[in-house]
Amino acid sequence: MVFEPKRVIFEREALEYPLGDRLLKYFDGKGVETSFTASHNRVTSIPGRTRPEGYFEGKRTLVVGVRRTRNFETCKPSAHYQLPLVTSCPGKCEYCYLLTNLGSKPYVRIYVNTEEILTAAAGYIEKRKPEITVFEGAATSDPIPVEPYTGILARVIGFFGEQELARFRFVTKFTDVDTLLPVSHNGHTRFRFSINTGEVIRRYEHATPTLAERLAAAKKVARADYPLGFLVAPIIAEEGWKESYRDLFKSVAADLGGNAADLTFEFITHRFTKRAKNTILEVFPNTGLDLEEKSRTFKFGQFGYGKYVYPKELFNEVKDYFHSQAQEFFPEAKVEYFV
Ligand code: SF4
Repeated sequence: MVFEPKRVIFEREALEYPLGDRLLKYFDGKGVETSFTASHNRVTSIPGRTRPEGYFEGKRTLVVGVRRTRNFETCKPSAHYQLPLVTSCPGKCEYCYLLTNLGSKPYVRIYVNTEEILTAAAGYIEKRKPEITVFEGAATSDPIPVEPYTGILARVIGFFGEQELARFRFVTKFTDVDTLLPVSHNGHTRFRFSINTGEVIRRYEHATPTLAERLAAAKKVARADYPLGFLVAPIIAEEGWKESYRDLFKSVAADLGGNAADLTFEFITHRFTKRAKNTILEVFPNTGLDLEEKSRTFKFGQFGYGKYVYPKELFNEVKDYFHSQAQEFFPEAKVEYFV
């Protein structure tokens, strides 16, 4: 499921980098519509008058730019810093938090100045030494769908393979991992897959690979000796959730067999803000997601806006259940967090 954009928009400066130049030739050669923009932050030529039109057209647009700022955002709780490589993704998950964070036309954006970004990363590593610095490569994106033609992740994984005092991690729902299998990762990159029950994937994670496809990719990654992780997010506690999530753990165990020596889990329960709810209802008016405030507890967030989470009793029940399943099927694995 490689991303095949309908249009590709370049910053002119991107063509001064080998990757930018190569991508222009590649997409021109494939007959894909290409054009230029003055800034990768302000792209005005994507069509779509209504919010849903803008969303779907944005998701079919690739923007190729140069990242100018050398400052990285922090990234708690999974890492120290975000590594800015790619923004957005061609998936169309109804609950995706990027829906509210990337504006009304969430185009996929890549940066071609990977070497400059890695030089900035080296500066952060230097500042924190002798502590280890952890970078997250998927804070605002799924970086895999563009990887087969950019090679950005392969380069980044190779870079971190050589860093004694840094680690890299990213998460994906996509499966085009073959080009990453031979990279010398040196155990410094944790490759995580976002998984969910077959029903959640079918109902809410449009334009993404099936569970079986994700697990097949995870198996390849484990065989290539990458530290492996699974992220279950969002955990949706709708009718029959215990059986469905137990089946999920069973499928992972059956898929991996004894193939994952260094395995982690991250668990995030479903939550939404008022703003996210409004956006979801605009883009997916027929959504089946439970967005009923009455069945939730309101919790103030760190940025001044609140979110609706599962009530304490249900939250604790889900938490205990997930810990017990992880323990039963993967007694050696580490649960990094449950929120
Ligand atoms: Fe969002 Fe991830 Fe789904 Fe892409 S795959 S739409 S980044 S949740």
